[in-house]
Amino acid sequence: MQFPQALETVLQILERMRDENARRPCASRTVVDALKQIPSPREIDTLKGHAPSRPKNLGADSAAPSKMEKSDKIEQLASIQHRVAGCTKCPNLASTRTQTVFGVGNPDAEIMFVGEAPGADEDAQGEPFVGRAGQLLTRIIKAMGFPREEVYIANVLKCRPDTPGSAYGNRPPTPREMQTCRPYLMEQIDIIQPKVIVALGAVAVEGLLGTRAPMRELRGRWDSFNGTPLMITYHPAYLLRNQSPSEKRKVWEDMMLVLERLEKPISEKQRNYFL
Ligand code: SF4
Repeated sequence: MQFPQALETVLQILERMRDENARRPCASRTVVDALKQIPSPREIDTLKGHAPSRPKNLGADSAAPSKMEKSDKIEQLASIQHRVAGCTKCPNLASTRTQTVFGVGNPDAEIMFVGEAPGADEDAQGEPFVGRAGQLLTRIIKAMGFPREEVYIANVLKCRPDTPGSAYGNRPPTPREMQTCRPYLMEQIDIIQPKVIVALGAVAVEGLLGTRAPMRELRGRWDSFNGTPLMITYHPAYLLRNQSPSEKRKVWEDMMLVLERLEKPISEKQRNYFL
């Protein structure tokens, strides 16, 4: 058993105990001894002859390049994707989804965009951010100077939230659903090791950080997710609902902060750009 699977097993046990209102965790000595034998990612790196993975708490300025080979990342992501495809931890979502929506993009991406959950288009196509909001996100990414394939895009939830009685419409994921699915996202981030994460909207922030606050208080400033710099900005769907140039400009200013953090040159045309 590898470290991520062991972690997920422990989380499943703890979730079950929480559901059963168990007061104290307990495990047999055999289980504890078996868990102690599992090498951590750092030990695996050392065993492979790699330098240990980039420690967290480093900003983009001081980040060392990832030591994990791209082929290893592809392999590990495929393994998680396989587990996600068969996941039934949220029975109502597993029974109503067309397919799971894992994530897409460059496993070596410097920027990782995280949204809340797949909608109807994503559920149908199996790729995050492919509907109207996704097309706007793709335009934003291109205006930043990246092809869409160069960044990584994922959601907190890998299944479309069900909408009982209606095949249409979307609903936000519940805190419980996000908490259940979050370990998959954490594994993705751990493997990709982006230099910057961009959280799209308040629900994504809640899924990542567990905090709730109005977006006007959250956006446009740096936060941190396990030591990786985290920029919070509006979800593109909000910009589709609110066509005000000032709101669009705010998102673009947030993206310029991301470019500055990555020490990317920003042209005059980009500085004057409005979405
Ligand atoms: S939302 Fe996540 S945890 Fe829930 S069934 Fe889908 S993949 Fe599993």
